[in-house]
Amino acid sequence: MLPGLYVHVPFCSRKCPYCDFYSIPALNLIPDWLSGLEREAERHARDWPGPFGTLYLGGGSPSLLGPADLAALFAALARFPLADGAEATIEANPEDVTREKVALWKGLGLNRLSLGVQSLEPRWLRGSLSRSHKPRDAQAAIEAALAAGGLSLSLDLIYAHAGQTPDDWAAELARAAATGADHLSAYILTPAPGTPLARDLASGAAPALPGEEPAAGLFLTAGEILAGLGFERYEVSNFARGGAVCRHNLKYWRREPYLGLGPSAHSFDGHKRWANVPSVSGWSSALKAGRSPLRFLEELTPEQARMEAILLGLRLAEGLPLAAIPDPAKLEGLIEEGYLFVDGPRLKPSPKGMLVADGLARILA
Ligand code: SF4
Repeated sequence: MLPGLYVHVPFCSRKCPYCDFYSIPALNLIPDWLSGLEREAERHARDWPGPFGTLYLGGGSPSLLGPADLAALFAALARFPLADGAEATIEANPEDVTREKVALWKGLGLNRLSLGVQSLEPRWLRGSLSRSHKPRDAQAAIEAALAAGGLSLSLDLIYAHAGQTPDDWAAELARAAATGADHLSAYILTPAPGTPLARDLASGAAPALPGEEPAAGLFLTAGEILAGLGFERYEVSNFARGGAVCRHNLKYWRREPYLGLGPSAHSFDGHKRWANVPSVSGWSSALKAGRSPLRFLEELTPEQARMEAILLGLRLAEGLPLAAIPDPAKLEGLIEEGYLFVDGPRLKPSPKGMLVADGLARILA
């Protein structure tokens, strides 16, 4: 099994009110970030010789990087060869996508675009998401990506907005599917503590989001509508048609090794996991001084590894080996209630089971 390579590009033109990914609106730090990457790549090159099965440029907003930045980034990444047929993704915001940029990305060997559309409805983009792009920007970006040919296209969507009905959501999903994208990621809007949206919700300045039950209804609606449009829900929040699954993200869920570069990036070598500090200056100055840029490094105990394998397996339609469940007697009630089912040697979650994968894992581990 080939490892994955992740690069965190921690820059955004502005901070979205619901986002708690590590990203900063400080493009002046791009040179420091590039120097740090060069040093971090050097640090890992011997232990991670490759070839890598996937490359993922995530963020932040990798689509903000210009041609010279990308050239420097790919020069640093030359130490990590990609296998023939590797999947190579870049995340992009609609307002950054032009035909020229798409041609540049393709020229660098990127073959998958994950577009942060977030919504195709102006009221959600302006409202809880407070995004600067408009649905027509998303449409133009989609057209630019598809016109180039040879790119797998994924759209990110966020749902469960205040007042959103199942019919609203079904119509939006149908529009997303009609764009020609072969992959959709759909996330329930869950403002992380400390974000501006969380504060506005707590103070009543933002209208309340749907509760657990209506949000669960929207979750199930997504699976039903998209199944009718040829998409398989292969993970809790991810849908693909024509087999266009995200091979990189599958490595996380299948507990396969991946190396993460950049501030806040996580890595897993099959036994140990570690994460970099979430700070461009802290991370790059540690590397410059020849020190470790890690925030933590841990080796999971066998119990922790088992719990994690069950939790992640229950997020996937492919499930996990039935033999991985330590006490099969606990399955009976969960199968009867329709959360899980057995398919040959594998235990699989139903859509209703995926929705509560964490709780099921706690019962079964
Ligand atoms: S563009 Fe993406 S990464 Fe940047 S702040 Fe918005 S949601 Fe977060």
